[in-house]
Amino acid sequence: MNHVVTPANMFPQGSLFDTVMSKTFKVGRYTLADLIELAGQTPFYVYDKEKLGERIAYLRRVMPDSLKIHYAMKANPMPAVVDFVAPRVDGLDIASHKELRVALASGISPEHISMAGPGKTDAELKAAICAGIVLHVESENELSRIYMLNESLNKPLKLALRVNPDFKVSGAGMQMGGGSQQFGIDAEIVSDVIKRHKCQSDIIGFHIFSGSQNLNITALEGIITQTFELANRLTQESGINIRHLNIGGGLGIPYFPGDEELDISHIAEVIRIELEKWHGTYPKCKVISELGRFIVGESGYYISKIIDKKVSREKTFLVVDGGMHHHLAVSGNFGQVIRKNYPVKVVSNSYSAEVEKVSIVGPLCTPLDLMASNMELQKADVGDYVIIYQSGAYGYTASPHHFLSHPMPIEFLI
Ligand SMILES: *Cc1c(COP(=O)(O)O)cnc(C)c1O
Repeated sequence: MNHVVTPANMFPQGSLFDTVMSKTFKVGRYTLADLIELAGQTPFYVYDKEKLGERIAYLRRVMPDSLKIHYAMKANPMPAVVDFVAPRVDGLDIASHKELRVALASGISPEHISMAGPGKTDAELKAAICAGIVLHVESENELSRIYMLNESLNKPLKLALRVNPDFKVSGAGMQMGGGSQQFGIDAEIVSDVIKRHKCQSDIIGFHIFSGSQNLNITALEGIITQTFELANRLTQESGINIRHLNIGGGLGIPYFPGDEELDISHIAEVIRIELEKWHGTYPKCKVISELGRFIVGESGYYISKIIDKKVSREKTFLVVDGGMHHHLAVSGNFGQVIRKNYPVKVVSNSYSAEVEKVSIVGPLCTPLDLMASNMELQKADVGDYVIIYQSGAYGYTASPHHFLSHPMPIEFLI
């Protein structure tokens, strides 16, 4: 079952999908026992600074120098994380008013911030205009509203049209481009929209994002080459002076047995070839890839404590003090079609090599609160701990914390 290819340096605790927990789990210099004291409670999320820094450095090393790397904040908008990431990347992508404030607080210059998202309110649009950031425009209506709001503000605008591509998108765990979408302006009407609004001079470029969590290298290759092709066609058709091309991201990380780590050097090579062509035609155009999950996903852990162990008709359950209200994705309810187990490890006070098949459930009164189903894990008992790996992205803020009114988890970066 375990064909996962992972660079040795990525999972220093051994293979992500091993069943038996090594006793050496550490974040930075801190052992699990230290981390529990630092959090002051379970459950908690902990994000590993060192791993996060290494991940960005690795991306930088592999990707062509002329590719700008942005961090898509919605993956993990914790201010400490954003402050740590901001100086190590070329820009931030945001999707709400609050993310804008956190992004600005990081000290990054506003021209390196861009805002996407359907349904931006007047307040958000005005804030973005006043901050001087790039707006990724999601519809023709939004474009009209931006001009209307700017009548009184009278600021220079930096607009990029988000394009819903006309090519077929495949391989993404969560598709956000191609076909009918609430995101972006359909490729076939983009040039007409620009001409109708006579806004050529305010349009600095395009944003083309096709979907999240893509582990299919052939599909990604197709998306990248078609994205550049489409951007070239739209630039020619519309006659804009292109200075900004955001080619999206969507690079996935392995979550489940059988998932393979992406061969980033291959993707980097595809991008390098396209960039060379692109910059031959548009030497002044900045090309950006925005990544969330790929940057932070592997740096985070969610840790909870076992508070009950029971056997029901031969099936063993570990009941922990955390659950889907803190970590929706682990329960399989964040866009997954079929529920699969995340990498999970158990840390037992009495280290034992014995393995046992268990399901791990949270405290919520719903069968959806399932964190691991029939997994072979190190034998554990009440008082032991459960670590959910790959929890740095779409964890804390992508979960329904108020469901059943349990206390919030702690989150910290160390
Ligand atoms: C969510 C999102 C991203 C980040 O996607 P990841 O899969 O986390 O890399 C990037 N761009 C836009 C527009 C998004 O909505």
